[in-house]
Amino acid sequence: MAFQEITRSGVTFYASDALSGVVHGFATRLGGVSRGKFDSLNLSDTRGDDPDCVRENLRRFRVAVGVPEQAHIYLPLQIHGTVVWRVDRDTDPAPVQADAVITDVPGLPIGVRHADCVPILIRDAGGRAVAAVHAGWRGTAAGVVSAAVAALGEQYGCVPPQLYAAVGPCICPDCFETDADVPEAILANLGPEAAPYLPKRGRKYHPDLRAVNALWLRRAGVPADHIDIAAVCTCCRPDQFWSHRRLGEERGCQASVIMLPEEGIK
Ligand SMILES: [Zn+2]
Repeated sequence: MAFQEITRSGVTFYASDALSGVVHGFATRLGGVSRGKFDSLNLSDTRGDDPDCVRENLRRFRVAVGVPEQAHIYLPLQIHGTVVWRVDRDTDPAPVQADAVITDVPGLPIGVRHADCVPILIRDAGGRAVAAVHAGWRGTAAGVVSAAVAALGEQYGCVPPQLYAAVGPCICPDCFETDADVPEAILANLGPEAAPYLPKRGRKYHPDLRAVNALWLRRAGVPADHIDIAAVCTCCRPDQFWSHRRLGEERGCQASVIMLPEEGIK
C-alpha cells in the first residue's frame, strides 16, 4: 500500500491504496483561490479568510476528490478529545464538538481539518461505514482513533480485522520537538510498547505521532498490513502544506474527506 499525490482540476491532494473503493482525499494547500497568507487552498472558515474564497476552495476540493459538488462535508468542531460524532442523512449540518466522525450513509462526505495534526481516514472492507479522525498530540495520547474504531463496531457492526486505515500527511518526528509532557501522556495510556516511537534527542523529545496512532489501530485489532502511513511531512514541505509548527496562527488549514460511494463498494 502507498499514498499517491494526485492533481485533478488544479487541486493537489493525496490518496491511499488502503482506501481504494471509497471516495477520499487528503488536501494540500495547492489549488485554491485564497490570497495572501491563505494562498491558496485554505479550507478553514474560522481563521479570517474571505468566506467566499473558503466556499470556493471547499467546492474545488470536493470536485477534485469526487465528492458531489454541492454536498455538505460534515466537519466537527475539533477540541483534541475522543468524542465520536455519528452522522446520518438527517443530521443537522451545524458542527458539534468532536474529533472523529463516522457514517454508514453512501454519498454523505465526512472529514476533519488539520495543519500538522494527524488525519486518519478509515473504511470497512464490506462498505458498512467510514470514519474521519483528527489526532493532535492530545488526541493521539488519548486514543481518539481507537475510540473511532470502537464506535464503528458499536454503531455499525464493523469488526477491526475488516477495517483499513490511512494515516495522512502530518508533522514528522524530526519537526515535532516536545518536552516530556507529550511522551508521558502517550506512555500513560499505551505503556512501554509506545517507547520506541518517543525518542529523546538532547533535552527534547521527538514523538512519532503517525507511528503511535498506528499502534492504537493495531491494539484495536486493525491488521498492521491494513494500515497505510504517509511519509510526507506537513512541516518539512511548506511548498505543499499548511503547518502550525512552521507558520503559527498565520496560516490556513488542510482538510481530509471520506465518503462511501453512492453506487456501493465495487
Ligand atoms: Zn518534518
